Amino acid sequence: MSRQPRTPGSEPCLACEGVRVDSGEVIQARAVLSTVPSFQLGRLLPPDLLSSFPAVTALRPAPIISINLWFDRPVTDLDFVGLRGTTLQWLFNKGKILGSPEGYVSLVISGAHQHIHRSREELLAIALRELGDLLPVTRQARLAHSIIIKERFATFSPRTGAEGLRPASTTPVRGFYLAGDWTATALPATIEGAVKSGYTAADAILNNFGISDFGLRTSCPSSAIRGQ
Ligand SMILES: Cc1cc2nc3c(=O)[nH]c(=O)nc-3n(C[C@H](O)[C@H](O)[C@H](O)COP(=O)(O)OP(=O)(O)OC[C@H]3O[C@@H](n4cnc5c(N)ncnc54)[C@H](O)[C@@H]3O)c2cc1C
Repeated sequence: MSRQPRTPGSEPCLACEGVRVDSGEVIQARAVLSTVPSFQLGRLLPPDLLSSFPAVTALRPAPIISINLWFDRPVTDLDFVGLRGTTLQWLFNKGKILGSPEGYVSLVISGAHQHIHRSREELLAIALRELGDLLPVTRQARLAHSIIIKERFATFSPRTGAEGLRPASTTPVRGFYLAGDWTATALPATIEGAVKSGYTAADAILNNFGISDFGLRTSCPSSAIRGQ
């Protein structure tokens, strides 16, 4: 980063001239696009710039727990199921989705603040109990294998005030751009939001270079974002 005059005689502004990688090598670039999560960006930015990126320190993480179970037989014909009134929120029939004969299901708990500190044994017991009520066949099936993944920094938490913190793709640092589900997409932290942010950032970069027709589609196709 450097301070450069915007125009001759004007106040200097911050400009990004490239990135320094772990080896110390500096890669020069006229545009740098960060796609790392907000929780990681704070570690990569020069410390004196953090105050220009308030979302980096103010957005809080939300954990997601995935409980992956392999039974000795298929336990449902459904591709996926939204669950209500249970700790488990979603069931994905990974065996069926992946075209495998395995009875492999993935159970997801989003916004898992209350459960992230539970032990793996406790989470497995909750999953088997709730699954037994929802799909009684799992009580007879043998559980061959299980993997429980706790993602503590899965997404940003959409708590009050978070929306106003989400940054645009252009930043106070000239030549430095942001993309990612945590930027101002007007969507929750989702794959759709991440895709949309990529289009927005590409658009901003090309506009900055005065390139209006680069043979690239830089606006997000509405078909990519359902419900818009
Ligand atoms: C368990 C789980 C389940 C989810 N389920 C759904 C779902 O069903 N539907 C949905 O829409 N969304 C879901 N999400 C959310 C979705 O995955 C995210 O919103 C989306 O992946 C965000 O994309 P992104 O490009 O902003 O960030 P990411 O996909 O997180 O990509 C960031 C990239 O930056 C890299 N990176 C991080 N730090 C550094 C560093 N220091 N240096 C270099 N690279 C770095 C990472 O390796 C990663 O490749 C889920 C998320 C999790 C964790």
